[in-house]
Amino acid sequence: MKNIILLAPPAAGKGTLSEMLTEKYGYVHISTGDLLRSEIKSNTTLGKKVDGIIKEGKYVPDDIIIKLIAKRINEPECDKGYILDGFPRTINQAEKYDELLSKYNKDIGVAIYIDVPKEVAMKRACSRITCPKCGRIYNKYSEEMRPKKEGICDDCKVKLTHRDDDSEETFIKRFDEYVNKTMPLYDYYESKGVLKKIKSHESKYDTFNEAVQIIEN
Ligand code: ADP
Repeated sequence: MKNIILLAPPAAGKGTLSEMLTEKYGYVHISTGDLLRSEIKSNTTLGKKVDGIIKEGKYVPDDIIIKLIAKRINEPECDKGYILDGFPRTINQAEKYDELLSKYNKDIGVAIYIDVPKEVAMKRACSRITCPKCGRIYNKYSEEMRPKKEGICDDCKVKLTHRDDDSEETFIKRFDEYVNKTMPLYDYYESKGVLKKIKSHESKYDTFNEAVQIIEN
């Protein structure tokens, strides 16, 4: 299976698309946001260091992220193919990732850019709720993304939570970080000939179907 890099603004649907592709193809889903939130939840030294940065809507330093990724993609289960959700987010991260790919003799695969207007992403971020146990993403504003029982995970039956950085104020800062630091990656991957563009549709199934076309062609 081709490895996948998901490139998109915050709350474009990277997490949801990753869940769906993982279920269909058996990919390993690597979300740097989830890895960092789990460090915060476990109150590790790393977690304490990044907590404030994330709450402020800023990017975590590249060296921390690279270390997390280097360890994760070298695990044997990743040999079958993985989805990078939220990495790389800076040119420096992309260059370091290229070095890791050569070192571990892995293929870059495909970079999928998910296009979404800022207002749509902001609406999604502000109404996004997540299961603290399994990580499944729900959304209060969309019929197909709502949990069956309000505020409760369909699978784990635990109370859904709202991310600290999903407020309107922090979203705007995250979006600025994205424009300044992550958007240059579009050209970076286009010049390597591995970039494919899809739209983030109102329905998650439409977005998923576009991604499937890319993966299977
Ligand atoms: P979203 O895609 O909705 O912005 P993520 O869960 O991917 O959310 O990331 C949440 C936060 O974690 C980011 O705003 C940033 O602070 C931090 N983060 C995640 N991945 C990276 C990365 N590759 N580089 C720097 N910071 C990151």
